[in-house]
Amino acid sequence: MVIYASDHKFPTVEHIDPLISAEIPDPNDDPELYTLVSDFMIHGPCGPHNINCPCMVDNKCSKGFPKRFRDHTSVDMDGFPLYRRRDSGMFVEKAGVKLDNRFVVPYNKTLLKKYQSHINVEWCNQAGPIKYLFKYINKGPDRVTVSIVESNTSNEPDPPFDEIKKYYDCRYLSACEASWRIFAFDVHYRHPAVIRLPFHLPNQQNVVYGEDDDIDLVLNRPSMNCSMFSAWMDCNQRDEVARELTYVEFPTKFVFKKDERCWKRRRPGGFAIGRIHAVSPTLGEAYFLRILLNKLKGPRFFDDILTVNGRKFNTFREACYAHGLLDYDMEYIEAIQEASHSGSGYYLRTLFATMLTCQTLSLPERVWQKT
Ligand SMILES: [Zn+2]
Repeated sequence: MVIYASDHKFPTVEHIDPLISAEIPDPNDDPELYTLVSDFMIHGPCGPHNINCPCMVDNKCSKGFPKRFRDHTSVDMDGFPLYRRRDSGMFVEKAGVKLDNRFVVPYNKTLLKKYQSHINVEWCNQAGPIKYLFKYINKGPDRVTVSIVESNTSNEPDPPFDEIKKYYDCRYLSACEASWRIFAFDVHYRHPAVIRLPFHLPNQQNVVYGEDDDIDLVLNRPSMNCSMFSAWMDCNQRDEVARELTYVEFPTKFVFKKDERCWKRRRPGGFAIGRIHAVSPTLGEAYFLRILLNKLKGPRFFDDILTVNGRKFNTFREACYAHGLLDYDMEYIEAIQEASHSGSGYYLRTLFATMLTCQTLSLPERVWQKT
């Protein structure tokens, strides 16, 4: 598929005829083209003249030949072109059958003359073929089923039929895919890297342990008191660059070293973005802690997160209020706006409906209008 630059497109039906023809040319005007079309661009004979033609499916030509005569090129309801095929009396004789303009495979004169081979050219100024192409490249590679059997030369009876042996799913690699894999090129990549940033309420970090692990050993593991999240606050204690960043901004300049359980400054050139997973408002404190984490820079302890203007609050919710983050349902407006980056319309409506039924909104109509 060739996609033209915007100022070279052929957007309308009038552009088709000079580019694509589905007619047999007059041999007196252009004998070379006449020979090429006769040799390469005539479909068939198929149909009743040649039932065994490969195009025949259920006694009909699967390619739709013969097409209908038309005096003008047009585009049908679905956007497919119907090429001009005039009833000019011209025909090409193949296997004793006279094939007229209804059997011409659409071609481009220039390409046909240059490459001297069967080149079917179609005008597809519509979204459908693009959708089809993307579907097609995701279908996976071509496959063939191959079996090599010894020919039965003796008079022994045929061996029993082995259905499993008969069905071998052999994968076919084209030359370009094979060389791509031999050279170990990337098959896919993602950029930039996204670092998932866990967080938790005080003393509520996840602990993973096996069924038979000794509980004292588990609790004394060095990782116990050093989650990725608490290591962030530790890093804030000793690094002033760290204190310039919110938690979600942290991976842009710092890397979490899993073996040492601590954050270290990122080497120049590296880059990643952070993502704090979404939390439902119904989880209460965890939800309010997340709101604070998206705003606060450099807290060194949980108490820092709870403290606003020198006053320490007991809950993250109160701290949110003290920061003015919850006035006028701001957190719900922000929650819907944030969800809109990834959620469908259906999801957003459900989210809003959930907020309504939880009776947490003070001014629902304001939240509605703002989002
Ligand atoms: Zn056919």
